[in-house]
Amino acid sequence: MTNKNYSYLIEIRKMADNENKLQSFYKRCREHGLRITPQRTAIYEMLTESDKHPSAEYIYEQIKKRFPNISFDTVNRTLIKFTEIGLANQVEGYGGARRYDPNLDHHHHIHCVKCREIFDFENENYDDLEIPPEISKNYKVLNKRVVINAVCKRCRRRTSLKKKGRKKE
Ligand SMILES: [Zn+2]
Ligand SMILES: [Zn+2]
Repeated sequence: MTNKNYSYLIEIRKMADNENKLQSFYKRCREHGLRITPQRTAIYEMLTESDKHPSAEYIYEQIKKRFPNISFDTVNRTLIKFTEIGLANQVEGYGGARRYDPNLDHHHHIHCVKCREIFDFENENYDDLEIPPEISKNYKVLNKRVVINAVCKRCRRRTSLKKKGRKKE
């Protein structure tokens, strides 16, 4: 198969995937009596297209380009609503703005401490981690996730470039 055919296939798969996501979005909204508006649909699409665990601010900046009259408050409230009806999760906070995660499959996170980007990863061993008994005795555990704090590839590259630059001086 040529490269071109291959990327064409990926494109089709992506379209089917997006279509599925939209269908479950409509279904979820209907189940919870949330009216489906072009703005809400666009916010949902923006959320699922981004793999950056976006904040309300980020979504607002993007969505403004298509709906110049939309307010930040609308975007913020919509994202909170999405969380309430199970269309997204809020990401564990590290100060700063609240971030949202459209990936509802069980997964873990790598937080880059420099650029604040959050990367998803899967690991069966981590999925199977047991909750220590002293915790399950005292808390009703709703979910668990491993968070790794790290410096991402891009930031590492940036730092090493800076160092190289400094040596020349
Ligand atoms: Zn980074
Ligand atoms: Zn995630």
